[in-house]
Amino acid sequence: MGIPEELLNQAFFFHGHKCPAMPLGLRAGLKAMEVLGVERSQDKELHVISETGKGHAAGCFLDGIMFVTGCTYGKSNVEKLYWDKMAFTLIDTVNERAVRVSLKPEFFAKALKSPFVELRRQGVPPQDVPPEILKPLLDNILSMPEEQFLKMSQVFDQPWQKRPGCFTAVPCAICGDLTFEKALRVKGGRLVCIPCSGY
Ligand SMILES: [Zn+2]
Ligand SMILES: [Zn+2]
Repeated sequence: MGIPEELLNQAFFFHGHKCPAMPLGLRAGLKAMEVLGVERSQDKELHVISETGKGHAAGCFLDGIMFVTGCTYGKSNVEKLYWDKMAFTLIDTVNERAVRVSLKPEFFAKALKSPFVELRRQGVPPQDVPPEILKPLLDNILSMPEEQFLKMSQVFDQPWQKRPGCFTAVPCAICGDLTFEKALRVKGGRLVCIPCSGY
């Protein structure tokens, strides 16, 4: 499935720089949505459990997944397992079905030897990688067939318990910050926020 240029540009804007890993996430997220037959999440219809971590190459993958699926940190429908693996599970919370998607090991091992990653290894920030190095990598990522780089599980049942939203906030008795009540704690008989509670 091709990625419309406008969508790609919006995703790069959101992400902050051009790199190969973010568009890989875009394509992987799109494929997972296609397999589940779902639309982009407006609220919490979808949920992503990402196996990526932080401080490793290609973590940008998750921004592509977030952008295209609509699963975002603010809506709390994305979570990270910090397993440092290039994989994620997309859950259709309405129909309680899911699919796990990972980058094929042979593809990703090769990608880690790309001139882009080599420059990153030498400490070059992604935004300073010359376009003549980035462009052929991007062209390849945007045009290669999915079966070349994506490993898809079968769609499986994923029971999903809806968590009720919390809409009531109370001022902390110490600092005065309005705090949603499910995070309030008791200190000396008063309701306080987590940092003021000291526990
Ligand atoms: Zn990136
Ligand atoms: Zn407080």
